[in-house]
Amino acid sequence: MLNDMTQNDLDNFAEGILNGLKLSDDDLRELVSINEKEELEKLFYISRKVRDYFFGNKVFLYSFVYFSTYCKNRCAFCYYRESNDIERYRLDIREVRNICRALKGEDIHMVDLTMGEDPYFHDNPERFIDLVKTVKSELDLPIMISPGVMDNEVLRELNDNGANFLALYQETHDRNLYKKLRVGQSFDDRVNARKFAKSIGYRVEDGILTGIGDDVESTILSLRGMEEASPDMVRVMTFVPQEGTPLEGTIQRSNISELKILAILRLMFPDRLIPASLDLEGIDGMVQRLNAGANVVTSIIPSNSSLEGVVNYDRDLKERDRDPKSVVKRLREMGMEPASQSDFNRIVGVVS
Ligand code: SF4
Repeated sequence: MLNDMTQNDLDNFAEGILNGLKLSDDDLRELVSINEKEELEKLFYISRKVRDYFFGNKVFLYSFVYFSTYCKNRCAFCYYRESNDIERYRLDIREVRNICRALKGEDIHMVDLTMGEDPYFHDNPERFIDLVKTVKSELDLPIMISPGVMDNEVLRELNDNGANFLALYQETHDRNLYKKLRVGQSFDDRVNARKFAKSIGYRVEDGILTGIGDDVESTILSLRGMEEASPDMVRVMTFVPQEGTPLEGTIQRSNISELKILAILRLMFPDRLIPASLDLEGIDGMVQRLNAGANVVTSIIPSNSSLEGVVNYDRDLKERDRDPKSVVKRLREMGMEPASQSDFNRIVGVVS
């Protein structure tokens, strides 16, 4: 498809996307099957061109506060699954407040409060609501919550108390693969939680994994599944085998599939938020993902922080290059820069 395209053709393709061109399943099949470097570079070029039309060189930055690594679930891919015998932590309000203070004045547009499905919070949601209120009063920034599946009333209360964005990843929209990844969890409850959240004013994020059980057809199912609910943010992440999980022995694939799907997401969701996570390959990986069409950097943590990430590529590293200043420095080297808070607030629907 892109193989024989000239520069002019690529520009016309990008123009077509900006004018509302929708990719057919056959288009997706061809794009997902791209293997050659030259063709990939063409895809990234189109994706950047589409992104730049909407966002220019501006990037949004989210800090990541993984406040509880306890979880009652058994996702096959996850280090924090209930049965894994690992050290865990649960931050209290004072610790969360200290993290907020370390983030004050930094280039951060939103705080992402993430936990496993920790019964301590899930059975007593007012504890989580208190945490959201604390972060709101400390930083007065939009708040993303990534708490797993919570019921509608709790989502509403969280929204009333300052939560603006719900991140809830399906991981795959292929129901058969879902059963193997999100073991014992309802497919539809996740879909419905995002749907409900959107209906009451949240912005929502969906995400998929690549590199574990996915082939071209299941990727298309996932892309179409994401499309159905029109999320405000769409994510793809490479599966990284985690110690102590049933998938520990799986061979990790390169990041090519992630970069390729990220660029395809940009063509399908031209004006949406698409993240480059620092959690997978740090700041060098961030550059690759931005070059494939991302416009958000996620998993930023204060310098010297021992907070966990979800994949946490740097779990054993002494130097963790994930703080706001290091990110902004690298962005500027790339000719990019943090967007204004008011630009972000407009997307989130917050009056600034
Ligand atoms: S992915 Fe989330 S819900 Fe699943 S085991 Fe890990 S922390 Fe729990």
